[in-house]
Amino acid sequence: MSKKVMVSGVKPSGRVHIGNYFGAMKQYVDLQDTHDVFVFIANYHALIGLQDKDQLLKDTLDIAMDYLAIGLDPEKTTLYVQSDVPEVTELTWIFNTLVTVPFMQRAHAYKDAVAKNTEPTVGLFDYPVLMAADILMPSADIVAIGQDQKQHIEYARDIAQKFNNTYGETFKLPEHLILENVAVVPGTDGQKMSKSYNNTIPLFGTRDEITKAVMSIVTNSGGEFPENLFAIHKLFRKEAELKPLYDANKTNFKTLKDTLIEDIDVFVAPMRERRDKIAKDPNKVLKILEAGAKKARTRAQEKMKEVREKVGIL
Ligand code: ADP
Repeated sequence: MSKKVMVSGVKPSGRVHIGNYFGAMKQYVDLQDTHDVFVFIANYHALIGLQDKDQLLKDTLDIAMDYLAIGLDPEKTTLYVQSDVPEVTELTWIFNTLVTVPFMQRAHAYKDAVAKNTEPTVGLFDYPVLMAADILMPSADIVAIGQDQKQHIEYARDIAQKFNNTYGETFKLPEHLILENVAVVPGTDGQKMSKSYNNTIPLFGTRDEITKAVMSIVTNSGGEFPENLFAIHKLFRKEAELKPLYDANKTNFKTLKDTLIEDIDVFVAPMRERRDKIAKDPNKVLKILEAGAKKARTRAQEKMKEVREKVGIL
């Protein structure tokens, strides 16, 4: 029996943080023995917020190194850059002709942009359709994500359904995989950790960067239980071990934070070392991406042939 397919990706827009890691990236590594895993670097998505050629190129290569450093094995996982599979944008257009404007207006990211009185680009508006094409193209069974992306999987399912109803059974309906305990990793300010909120703990931070981020974790000066600190800490150490430590240091937040810094550093050190080694040979990383692109594209071309035949495009 063939393995189930897992597809997911991360935007190359700034440094990955522990929210990305626990919420999504770690799942890719955990699934690569049991699933056929496709991981893409979403550079077309990143363009929506990043219009700087050198930065985008740097972030794209950096994130490939991040994935390899966390243990993604290119022998098992297909790692590729989104733009290396142009069939994805072709499929996006075909989907665009099926989805309606009111349906797209319900998307959270678009609604947020409107609420903030910014003028969203067509790219931001269309983001969920591009993501649907990313997911449906390799026939994903599951998509490992954090809670914030849940709506996008619902969009992908609805779009697949719409296509299937119009042109006949073509796309598989994917399921989301969201692990409850890491669905929303909080940031240093207690909101969802996000590159956009300036509240992250970088995954590949130096000891100094980790220290600075942990020291900025907001704790209540009224002596109440430091929920936020604890929520981050339990990603790195069992709750049963943390409880006595937090009981013994009820108001001593400095000691708790020092312990967290140490725990993060111990956890991250091997990945950081692996990453340093990988960064010494960027050509090797580019070769891995090239091989991944070839595999992903061959698969996409087969799917697009079927799609073109069904819609009547020669
Ligand atoms: P960011 O919000 O920092 O820009 P991305 O949009 O690039 O992150 O998200 C990449 C992946 O990481 C997605 O699957 C997303 O759901 C997950 N993710 C991001 N932030 C968190 C978080 N704080 N907790 C859990 N998962 C997260």
